[in-house]
Amino acid sequence: MSQLRSFGKFFLPGPTEVPHDLFEAMQRPVAGHRSPEVSALVQGMQPKLSALLRTSRPVYISTSSATGMMEAAITNLTGRGALCLTNGSFGQRFYNISTATGRAADTLEAQWGDPLLPEQLREALAADPGRYDLVTVVHSESSTGVLNPVRELAAVVREFDDVLIAVDAVSSLAAARIEMDEWGIDFLLTGSQKAVALPPGLAFAAASDRALERARNTPNRGFYFDLLNHEKNMKKWQTPTTPAVSLLFALERQLERIHEEGLQARWTRHTAMAERTWQWVADTAEATGRPLGVFAAEGYRSPAVTAIGLPEGLTGPEVEGRMKSRGFAVAAGYGKLKEPTFRIGHMGEHTMEELEALLAVLSEVL
Ligand SMILES: *Cc1c(COP(=O)(O)O)cnc(C)c1O
Repeated sequence: MSQLRSFGKFFLPGPTEVPHDLFEAMQRPVAGHRSPEVSALVQGMQPKLSALLRTSRPVYISTSSATGMMEAAITNLTGRGALCLTNGSFGQRFYNISTATGRAADTLEAQWGDPLLPEQLREALAADPGRYDLVTVVHSESSTGVLNPVRELAAVVREFDDVLIAVDAVSSLAAARIEMDEWGIDFLLTGSQKAVALPPGLAFAAASDRALERARNTPNRGFYFDLLNHEKNMKKWQTPTTPAVSLLFALERQLERIHEEGLQARWTRHTAMAERTWQWVADTAEATGRPLGVFAAEGYRSPAVTAIGLPEGLTGPEVEGRMKSRGFAVAAGYGKLKEPTFRIGHMGEHTMEELEALLAVLSEVL
């Protein structure tokens, strides 16, 4: 019955390869979500979840994909208007959510491949004081492989009274350093299926005291993603509605693994895999004389995902297809970059040895 794939061949930038023991953990019988058993599980995981998001605040567990918590950011935290920092598809998604939920919003854009810079944000906030009271930004923009300088952007937001910052760390959390409390982030969200390496289906988020205060004063927060309801239920170590209990069992085991590796070691492993990938791109371009390149600007590259610009005549879906026929998964580009790029997700539990094996096969198919 088991259809487990041999580990080390699946390099999508989400969902990522899931360690097999997590599927074992999920085979526990389901329990009622108001039972002492599940409350104890949720309570027991909180210290490790808070440590992962680097916050003293409780971490909400949402049974939704990460986009659910992106929507929560918009519907709970937009007062007068949101300024959505956009240099890729996921940054744009915050803006699309604002439009879909009837919140006032504008984008602040940088070229895809370039980072959003703090000076640019300061200028935009100062140009029209009071217009925005929420800034959204994606840490690791999975469509381009850019790592936005969240620490510096959050510092700029803190220069302005009554402006909050919400950060999508979906592909960066557990892969790149991000410090919710120390950097002054008001809302930090991630999903289960990227660098955390769980199956898809859960999202995690934490809100600062300032963010909760904003939510209290925000009407029409919606129902499913009402942060105040999450906050209230977490006081009882519960979730507002039935969580994906089986995934909680997997989460317990995976938090243990992440804790054992250590966050610093985990960040270092991801950085090493990313640097190896960039080097491979440069070596391959040189060896073949073809203009292959890392899409993200130097100095602003994600340790979790690399988008690679392809030479004329070769497309992302073609690379994806050739790798698939060799038993490996990489991804075509995302959104408007689907054809001109392909992407490698070097995140989660992958090791350098597995990455080397992937790159060797990639060299053959290119
Ligand atoms: C994958 C991803 C998302 C969307 O996550 P879902 O779980 O599919 O909702 C959002 N932001 C970034 C940066 C991502 O990589």
